[in-house]
Amino acid sequence: MADWKQYFRQGVEQNLCDNFEQAQKLLEAAFDGCPDEESELACEIVFEIGRSFFGRGKRGAGIGSMLEAVKMGHEEAHTENMMRALVNEYGMPVQKDPLGDDRSAFTAIHVMRYLYSKKSGKFGTLAERDMIMELVSDAWSDFKERVRLDGLRTRVKISRFREYVIFFPTFRVPEEINSGSEHIIYADFGGDLCSCGSGLPYMWCCGRIKSVDELENGGF
Ligand SMILES: [Zn+2]
Repeated sequence: MADWKQYFRQGVEQNLCDNFEQAQKLLEAAFDGCPDEESELACEIVFEIGRSFFGRGKRGAGIGSMLEAVKMGHEEAHTENMMRALVNEYGMPVQKDPLGDDRSAFTAIHVMRYLYSKKSGKFGTLAERDMIMELVSDAWSDFKERVRLDGLRTRVKISRFREYVIFFPTFRVPEEINSGSEHIIYADFGGDLCSCGSGLPYMWCCGRIKSVDELENGGF
């Protein structure tokens, strides 16, 4: 058996034994070695990498990988039901309740704005991260007092989240990035399926909101 296939098999086993970090290393090695013509197995590897992320508590990155696998053609019968149980309307990990879903989307949008405004694209220190998360948390409290979200469609809610301005220290939005993100919201108000042709719903594809754990991994 080729090395990459061994790594894949071992990675799946390690995922089942809850050794998620080890599993992810093996699976990434398997993916690197997987030849182009084995596209079905490549999908499965990417899906398993999603499980490893999940196990490590990086749920946003986990969903990112799983959706990537579905886009690549991973379509076992149980996949869609499983994704529906894991992924919310924003393309993010499901939270305890709908308000939790709204809050995590609001948070991710504003954290992304902050990180965009920095050259490094990252939090420099834990203290900086704590400060920004606290500012966003306060902003959310204020936002939900003032804006009614009941009954609004997902994309309308996202527009409301984006319209809310938080004054971060040294906050600055570069022109081109700002207009780019606006383009994402307004580009496709039509059908439910993404216009890129992936066959996935827009909110699970090009419109999905990346979670804070993905943003921190540099996953803009
Ligand atoms: Zn798309």
